[in-house]
Order: sequence, then C-alpha cells, then structure tokens
Amino acid sequence: MLAARLRRLLPVAALLLALPSACSEGGGAGSGAGAGTQGDVAWPLHGRTETAQRFAELDQINRETVSRLGLAWAYDLETDRGQETTPIMVDGVLYVASAYNVVHAIDARTGKALWTYDPDVRAASARSCCGPVSRGVAVAGGRVYMGVLDGRLIALDAKSGKPVWETQTIDQSGPFAVNYTITGAPRVIKGNVVIGNGGAEFGVRGYVSAYDAATGKLSWRFYTVPGKPGEKDNSASDAALAKVQASWAGEWWRYGGGGTAWDAIEYDPELDLIYIGTGNGSPWNPAMRSDGKGDNLFLSSIVALRASTGEYVWHFQQVPGDSWDYTATQNIILADMEIGGKARKVLMQAPKNGFFYILDRATGEFLSATAYVPQNWAKSIDPKTGRPDIVPEARYYLTGKPHFQFPSSGGGHNWPPMAFSPRTGLVYIPAQDVGMPFGPNPTEDQVIGAYTSGVAMSGGGAMSAADRKALYDSMKARLIAWDPVARKPRWTSEQAAPFNGGLLATAGGLVFGGNAEGRLVAYDDETGKPLWSFDAQTGIVAPPISYRIDGVQYIAVMAGWGGGWPLTGGVMALKAGKTIGPNRLLVFRLDGTGKLPPFTPADPLPYPDVVDKGTPAQIAQGDALFARFCLRCHGSGAVSAGAYPDLRRTGLLGTRGFSQVVLGGALAELGMPKFAGKLTPAQVGAIEAWLVRRSLEDRRLEQLEGRKAAP
Ligand code: CA
Repeated sequence: MLAARLRRLLPVAALLLALPSACSEGGGAGSGAGAGTQGDVAWPLHGRTETAQRFAELDQINRETVSRLGLAWAYDLETDRGQETTPIMVDGVLYVASAYNVVHAIDARTGKALWTYDPDVRAASARSCCGPVSRGVAVAGGRVYMGVLDGRLIALDAKSGKPVWETQTIDQSGPFAVNYTITGAPRVIKGNVVIGNGGAEFGVRGYVSAYDAATGKLSWRFYTVPGKPGEKDNSASDAALAKVQASWAGEWWRYGGGGTAWDAIEYDPELDLIYIGTGNGSPWNPAMRSDGKGDNLFLSSIVALRASTGEYVWHFQQVPGDSWDYTATQNIILADMEIGGKARKVLMQAPKNGFFYILDRATGEFLSATAYVPQNWAKSIDPKTGRPDIVPEARYYLTGKPHFQFPSSGGGHNWPPMAFSPRTGLVYIPAQDVGMPFGPNPTEDQVIGAYTSGVAMSGGGAMSAADRKALYDSMKARLIAWDPVARKPRWTSEQAAPFNGGLLATAGGLVFGGNAEGRLVAYDDETGKPLWSFDAQTGIVAPPISYRIDGVQYIAVMAGWGGGWPLTGGVMALKAGKTIGPNRLLVFRLDGTGKLPPFTPADPLPYPDVVDKGTPAQIAQGDALFARFCLRCHGSGAVSAGAYPDLRRTGLLGTRGFSQVVLGGALAELGMPKFAGKLTPAQVGAIEAWLVRRSLEDRRLEQLEGRKAAP
C-alpha cells in the first residue's frame, strides 16, 4: 500500500517538446520596420503593471488567430501539489514558484531550465490552511524575492539562483510563531520588499512588513489588528491601532485576532499609497473572539498606507465584525474611470462577501458596492457609507442557530485573480455561487495551531445528507464580465464546477482562464464565446500571463489543481471530475505544435479490509478532531479531491503504521507532519476509528449502488 502511495508521489513522466521552427512564426512577426522591430514585452510585476489589471497589450494572438494557438513547450514541475503562481517574465526569463516554494528560472522562449532553488519548507507545510502553494515571486534589480511557507523572506540572485539574504518575517518568540505561513507574492515598492502572511484559521495576528530590498533589514511593519492592551509594538501601526482598539472587546489577542494580509498588496506611485487587503477574524466566531461586540478594525478591510513609512492613511471596512471568513484579500485593480460624471482614480475588488466594491483610491471614499453573485447575509449596503445592514439570521453567534448562507467561506470570488480590460471597460471575475451553514460551536476549545474557527464543523460537514446533496446539485460557477460603471454583468459564461483559474485579458480581444475541469480556455472578451481550449490534464487555478519575445507573443500558465477548495471540499470539489494531474508550466504561441504525453489518472486504491470497533463517543470525537487537524489536506468527509492520500483507502487503517505516521512522523519527508504533542494516542485512535467508519460507509455505498463518494 505504502509503496503504491510513494510511487504516486514520484515525479511524473517527462514532457515532449516540439518547438516550431524559427521561420514559422505567425501573426506578422517577420523582419522589417513593422512587427519585426517590436520590442520584447515583459510581465514584470504580479499584476503586470502597477495598476495590476492583468491586461496584456499584445494582439498577435487575437480572435482571428487564436484557432492557431498551440503548445510551444511544457516544463514539468515534478509535483502534483497544486500551482497558484503568476509567472514573472523579465529579460527573457520566466520565474515561477512551484509547490513548497521551489523556484524555477526558465528560458521564456525555449523552456530550458536555467536554475532551481529549493528552500526546503516541507516540514512547515501543514501550517498552510490551503496547501503548500505559492502565488509567486517578485523580481527587481537583478534579484528574485520570495516569501516561503515557514515565514522566511528570501532574496536570490536572478542570474544564478543563489541566496543573497534571507530574513525570518515572523517573531519566533511570539505566541503564534509556528502558526503563520506565507503563500502570497511579495511586491517591491520604493526599494522595499513588502510581504504579508496568512494563518488566521490557526490563531495569528496579521501584519505586513517592508524590508530593505538591498539588505533585508526591516524598514517598517503595520499590524492590521490591535495587540494586547497596554503593550506597544513600536511599529508603524501604533497610532492607528490605538484609535481603533475600542472596536474590539474580550480577549482577542489570545487568539491573535486575525486580519492577515495574505494576498492583495498594490501600489499607486503617483499617490504614494500602498493598498493592503486584510483577512477574516481569528477565530471566525466573534462571540469567542471579541465577546460578540464591535467592528473589529481592520478586519475585512482595505487599508491604505504611506509607502515609505507604512503609516496609516485611510481604510474602508467591508464587513464589520466579520463572522464568516469574508476576507478582503482578493486581488485589487487600479483604474481611472468616469463614475457619476466625475473622473475618478478608483480601486476595484470582488472580495469573498459577494459584493463588487469601487472606492476612490486617493481618499478611500466609498463609491459603490453591488452584488456580483447571489448573497443572503446583507439586506443592503448603505449607499453613502458602504456599511452593510446585516440580516439578523446571519448572526449565528447571537441566535445560536445555524444560517445557511451565501456566499460560503470560500467566497463569491477567492484568490484566483480577476482581470480588467481597458479595451472593453469590463472586469472579468472567476466567480462562484456556493453556500454553507454557519453555526456556533461554543464547545470548541481553542488550540492555537489547530484549525480553529469557532464555527460548527465536522469531518463530514455540519450538514444533513439531504442538505449536502442539495448544495452539491445547486453549486454553480461563472465567469462574469462585469461592467463596473453600469454595475451589472455584460455577459456570463457558466462553468462546470466551482473554483476556476485566475484570468488574463489581452488587446487581442481575448480573455484567458483555466478551469476546474482541466482546460485552458480563450473567450471572446465582448461576448464570452469560448474560441479555443487546451486539455491541460489537470485542473488549473493559477492565472495565465502573456509576453512577447523576438516578435512572438506567448501565453503562459501554471497548471496544477490545488489550494483550498480542491483540498478541503471533499466530494463537493469532485464535481468537475477528479482533476489531479501532472503539474507543469504550459506555454503557448501561434502555430505551436507541442504535445503533452498521454496521461491516464491512477485508479483509486482499493478499500482496505478493516473492522469497525469504534464506540459512538470515539466516532464523534474522531469526527471533530479530523475537522480540526486533518480536513485541511485530506478533505471533508475524508474524501480526497486533491493530491493528498484518500484516508478512506489507506492501508494504514487498522495497523500500527497509522500512529507511526500521525504521531511518529514516519512520512514527514513527504510533507505529512508529525502530530506528537498536539494529539494524544487516544485522540489519534478516535480519528482512526472515525476513518474506519467512513471507509466502510463508502465501500458499502459503492458496492450497493455502484456510485463513488456521492454527496
Ligand atoms: Ca480565512
């Protein structure tokens, strides 16, 4: 059994390369005064430019030529753990961060490997709520900067891949030292490397830090929530947090409070403002976090900071007293547009809470919020202040009753970035329409370092089988072409299942995006009509980019199904079909003739022969413990939709090997953490008893009804 598992984790088959000949370049990339002198076009920043619009001003690949688009080359990433990176392309080199923060520098024209760098963070991977993923690196001044899962910020020499400096961004003596993680891409702003962190589900206090790009010395730090009253941070945030401390109650600092800035960080050089999107409260349940009182600033907010000092300039809170993991960390886009007859410098965001926000980015003035997906948590948004009128039923911590709510904690839109086309004036949003029940779990004791939301959950989901089936059947996802001025969709494209890839818009009249089914698709940016697609052999969540070298336009995307939904969604995340496959960087050009080697997904392992000896008390305990310690990787209901072992089918069940792995760390090298000190042998026994029950339940279902992991 173990051997079979190990084999599945080994590197996948090598790729096939088939480069088109140099003279077959399509789209007028010949010599002479025209296209031939076109300079190279880089993708130098996370969102391509400082506006972060993810718009490529390239049109060789367009609505007329896109049918000729083909694979130029593929670069095998030798992992199946998921890819979220936006590649950076400068000076003819692509820089990507694969799972476990392994950086690859690749010739952007040929796909030839130049160097790789492995920071060896496998032991820290269980800190991440949502897989050992990275959303990318920053490249500036001949250096590559990356924040890694264990909290380090590392500077590499861009030519050699050798480390230049590294610094630990997390206070190792602090109470939450091992609970932070970094999955977001750093930004280089005015000579500083700015980086946030994640971990609010494990009990942390959010902050962003700026380090001198040359030396790695801390320039400033801004905490997003207040610390223990009476204790100063001596940080850029001190004055601002003193003013908002009254928006908190109880003993939030014991759990950190949350507010982690784990993704969106953008910069307007003209205004000299950095925009930070902040996350949810820690724990989600405000009764535990803040005695159920207060707005809890700066949770679920966009905060504008002075770039050189990190000082507070303005903030806008989307969700006062967040209770549903409604982060405001989703990508932020800057644009200049006319709103209500007035020219405005705006920022736009489609955060988890289901409303599309437009703010004046100079002042923070609220301009509009419009629901872009169905939602039932807010009656309305005050048109003057932007404050939501929250429906009483949504406050489960006051009513004591669960509320079946839309959007779910996964959001109407999550981290896969939206894109804006100045050509059409539309924002393209990879959106989803999924609900979930939120109810209090007042008995959940706080274990810092375990997944702790204070919201009722269980390994099987806190839902009846009928509710689960209804949710499964009703889950939707759509690519929305959103008109921010008219505040409504221009068109939508229905997707097969939730959690699809980030998007790219181009001057060729196209929108590119991967999906949960494992295809990269090009859509007409004005109609939504799919014009081209490619079988990537794995679900895609990362956003594509585009660049031009030697007159040839390329489209590049990291292919690899991973991250929060694939890992945790269980049977819900299987709706698109199981889409685990070889992870690769895929690069396309007109008349590319490359082919991927054939891929056949491995058959699931057979169910082990196990005997159900669990007592009702053990089963209930195991269910709850699984939800807090195991579900983040092994899936709701122990149904694995990601690359991790499906524990209903592990041959370790009923053997001594089970506790050797869980408590003893026997598979630590493969990224399975050691839980000694966090779980007792009796608790591990309860988890195993529950897994045996789940294994037998689903085995019986398959035998009786011939169906697999039904909702
Ligand atoms: Ca969260």
